[in-house]
Amino acid sequence: MSGNPNIVVLGAGLGGTIAAYEIKLAVGAKAEVTVVSKEDRFHFVPSNPWVAVNWRKRKAIEVPLAPVMARKGIGFINVAAARVDPAANRVDLADGRSVTYDYLVIATGPELAFDEIEGLGPHGGHTQSVCHVSHAETAAAAFDALAANPGPIVVGAVQGASCFGPAYEFALILDTELRRRKVRDRVPMTFVTSEPYIGHLGLDGVGDTKGLLESEMRSRHIKWITNARVARVEPETMHVEEIAADGQVGATHVLPFKFSMMLPAFRGVEAVRGIEGLTNPRGFILVDKHQRNPTFPNVFALGVCVAIPPMGPTPVPVGVPKTGFMIESMVTAIAHNLRQELNGEAASHEATWNAICLADFGDGGVAFIAQPQIPPRNVNWAASGKWVHLAKIAFEKYFIAKVKRGESEPFYEKMALDIIGARKIKA
Ligand SMILES: Cc1cc2nc3c(=O)[nH]c(=O)nc-3n(C[C@H](O)[C@H](O)[C@H](O)COP(=O)(O)OP(=O)(O)OC[C@H]3O[C@@H](n4cnc5c(N)ncnc54)[C@H](O)[C@@H]3O)c2cc1C
Repeated sequence: MSGNPNIVVLGAGLGGTIAAYEIKLAVGAKAEVTVVSKEDRFHFVPSNPWVAVNWRKRKAIEVPLAPVMARKGIGFINVAAARVDPAANRVDLADGRSVTYDYLVIATGPELAFDEIEGLGPHGGHTQSVCHVSHAETAAAAFDALAANPGPIVVGAVQGASCFGPAYEFALILDTELRRRKVRDRVPMTFVTSEPYIGHLGLDGVGDTKGLLESEMRSRHIKWITNARVARVEPETMHVEEIAADGQVGATHVLPFKFSMMLPAFRGVEAVRGIEGLTNPRGFILVDKHQRNPTFPNVFALGVCVAIPPMGPTPVPVGVPKTGFMIESMVTAIAHNLRQELNGEAASHEATWNAICLADFGDGGVAFIAQPQIPPRNVNWAASGKWVHLAKIAFEKYFIAKVKRGESEPFYEKMALDIIGARKIKA
């Protein structure tokens, strides 16, 4: 150890990995940067739906992290954190060791709350998931079985979910792949969602996502149930309650299925949940406008683990999504703020939390830009077309290449974002 301050980044997913690169670049020789990660490799989560229909193999979307971190001069501890102790500036690891820090950046993503609904999820339940690449691999085998012996599909997002884009993506990708396999005519499909309307996305819609997504679903013969609460899942049967504006059950549905993928609600991971002053009751990290925790000011957070209040009341609870570009904006703000801290200045940078999203359907897709994420907005744009599919492939290749190179934002990316007026930090 050099005697320099130690910045620990906890979690090496989409946010934590590029945060380590960007922070190291920002602080240079003024601090050590160490990543603590449960997994030895980075997975590009947005490609999981493709893995689940065999359009991608797992290997193509993962990057072993130890070599690239070593090349960048970043410490890498491939052990899960058991508990964060922010009062002692310490992270206790699952193998009994501990790491102390001067600054902690929490990027632990979500814990998947399958256990909140009876029969939900791939761990002993009856529905598939695309949240983790290993779930997507299991889903791919189940999908092949369905295609060989067709029957009904139920896809969607349950009460309390905050991640809706991948549910639409997956429903429409399934439709595309089933048509390619020439069995779509034997697969009735139902989309079940806690959103109050199709295309709400936890954002009260962006541009005309309502019209665009309804039209896609209508033209592909996908029925839908909104304001849906999943009561329980049995083998091949989902019990769904449709909730009226007064909060009462308006209708009930018993949906048979041979294949189902439902996105769960998220909560904070166990290593941080229930720490007074650090997290909200669901275990998400409380942050101020500089991405720092108000109680423990040397703790910053980014990504899905951050607490963001819901958009407004809805008959069934829905959360606000934390999408890639928004997460990158948090990364950039934290890197700038840590540099200021180390220079003895007050952290002043604020992330824009702008949302730029591409939802791929295999043969087309819907793209949207929400600036800011919360309405009313200065930019509120959505469009659809075949180009979205190609743009998503380009985004995947580009992002994975960035992670392999150990770069967060090359100058040409910044230039391209400047041209379209998309900023990561507030001016
Ligand atoms: C299926 C799916 C598709 C998505 N597609 C898109 C998309 O197309 N575009 C978009 O903008 N957004 C998309 N998102 C949303 C978002 O970009 C992703 O969820 C993204 O992966 C979130 O990044 P993160 O770093 O916050 O969390 P994650 O990427 O989940 O990373 C968290 C990391 O922390 C690690 N970790 C957890 N607990 C511990 C612990 N105790 N100790 C050490 N490490 C720990 C985990 O192993 C993981 O590697 C998608 C989300 C999902 C679920």
